Amino acid sequence: MPDTDARTALVLFSGGQDSTACLAWALERYALVETLGFDYGQRHRIELACRLTVRSELLKTCPQWASRLGDDHLLDLRLLGQISDTALTRDRAIELQAGGLPNTFVPGRNLLFLTYAAALAYRRGASVLVGGMCETDYSGYPDCRDNTLKAMQVALSLGLDTPMVVETPLMWLSKAQTWALSHLLGGDALIELIIEHTHTCYLGQRGERHAWGHGCGQCPACELRAAGFAAWRR
Ligand code: ZN
Repeated sequence: MPDTDARTALVLFSGGQDSTACLAWALERYALVETLGFDYGQRHRIELACRLTVRSELLKTCPQWASRLGDDHLLDLRLLGQISDTALTRDRAIELQAGGLPNTFVPGRNLLFLTYAAALAYRRGASVLVGGMCETDYSGYPDCRDNTLKAMQVALSLGLDTPMVVETPLMWLSKAQTWALSHLLGGDALIELIIEHTHTCYLGQRGERHAWGHGCGQCPACELRAAGFAAWRR
């Protein structure tokens, strides 16, 4: 275990596989870790329910982190539904749009998330934001790019007049490496928790339990998760 970092970290935590890996990563490092979720009118409310289950299961599965896991916050960002028209918030099929971006893209969503996260972090005395953005399995989301997030770190630190570090531990990891990171951090118990309790499926299905977890098995998110698991297991 690395030396404890005395700063408080705020993890952008959706209840999915990636943000759960980020939460474990933060709990291993920081003295106090709070979590933040966004209600943006997700078509599938199951995501929001999974967040709390993952948190409570983490306390049982990884008691070494229990004293570090602080409060959870949920911000209402349903106004995003007023400025976007996407497959995540409307009953539409997921498909590629002109320009190559999938229609799951909410324009600038991560910029908004980080801005709200930083405002909350400031109030909570946190100076580290942790997010699961990743450039390796890049789905074309320009607000997940490393340079975008570095620019946000600078903008937020200047705008708040206090250091606000944006950490993205998954930025250069493949999905297989993200499974490996979770195993390194929390062993078989954390892997089992991620398989059973985190939610990734775009269609909001729990369905049968596959080797890699629950989900429809067909949507892009399920395919990515299943392929990463298979590659890690190989
Ligand atoms: Zn799915």
